[in-house]
Amino acid sequence: MTLNSSEKQILELISFGQGRSRKKIAETLNLTQGTITNVTKNFLEQGLIVEGERVSSGMGRKEVLLYAHPHKFTYMGIDIGGHSVRFSLGNNGLELLHAHECLMVDLTPEEERGEALLRKIDEFLALCGTDAAAIDAIGIGITGIVDAVQQTVLNMPNAEHWDNLNLVSLLNERYRCPVFLDESGRTMALAEQMSGEARDIGDFIVVQVGYGIAAGIMIDGRPLRGVNNAAGLLGHITADPNGPRCSCGNYGCLENILTFPMLRNEFILRGGSGTLADAYRLNDKVALDVCLEAGQALGIALSNVVNLFNPETIYIGGPMFDVMPLLLDETKRTITLRANRFSTLTLKLERTSFGSRQGLIGALALAKIRLIQGL
Ligand SMILES: [Zn+2]
Repeated sequence: MTLNSSEKQILELISFGQGRSRKKIAETLNLTQGTITNVTKNFLEQGLIVEGERVSSGMGRKEVLLYAHPHKFTYMGIDIGGHSVRFSLGNNGLELLHAHECLMVDLTPEEERGEALLRKIDEFLALCGTDAAAIDAIGIGITGIVDAVQQTVLNMPNAEHWDNLNLVSLLNERYRCPVFLDESGRTMALAEQMSGEARDIGDFIVVQVGYGIAAGIMIDGRPLRGVNNAAGLLGHITADPNGPRCSCGNYGCLENILTFPMLRNEFILRGGSGTLADAYRLNDKVALDVCLEAGQALGIALSNVVNLFNPETIYIGGPMFDVMPLLLDETKRTITLRANRFSTLTLKLERTSFGSRQGLIGALALAKIRLIQGL
């Protein structure tokens, strides 16, 4: 399938949006209604798009909304974090069909991470009862630094034996479909943009906190990459100049304060007993202090980000914010206190749309966006 530039623009607009009328598409792309009618007729015949509900657009007759055909393509999404690796299959509407998770320590032998990953993918496909031939594209999000041009992993600070691994060619050779790789903060931001609450927002940030911290910064609808594709390393911002050495080589990184294991370590170090979550529920002072300080650290880091990028919304994800809401309250309070008042005037702090599945939806979104852009 080869599309000309107008056809490409029309298909992208329909595929990445959440229902658009022909009239709206014509206005957005500055094309004639006749062109849109002809092109969408072809797309309908090819099964690329479907017609949805009719909506009223003020005066005149109702407009039919157009959507990407949910069953046209099937994607595999893989989200590789320092602690766990998640697998998913999704349709062209980015709905999860299957999801599965394994621990990073289960990808052995460590020296052969690539082969171990292939084995886990094969197991996942067998579990789903899906043949690899049914997959149209694979998206991989990884908590680390990737070479966007070479499509290789440059560095994964929280797990060994991933550096310089060419996952794209490895998976491409095995599964015979296009494979795309990006840093997981950016894929999570893509998920928010394509299927979440940030559909009509150009400037926003997604922050996911678990065993590590991933962040994606969107500016005017495009992910910030930086000259070496290393932009957005929120977890490795110095939060405590006297803090311990981080796995990245720096000292006192935010990841040394805020991640789940770091909160737990700090709680134990200060004499806390039992689990941090239980102690928090009992209003234990040590647990509350640990949360307050971690919330402040994230708030300070995000105040700097807010002052630099002036986002409309920050989406924060991670189970610890559900279990210990004080963390988020203190983060919000610190941002309001420290970031520039003109930036905070309209700033919204929300939870991410997909919770623990943000990375999986993001990896599927990466596969979809890149496959359709390449048609
Ligand atoms: Zn670091």
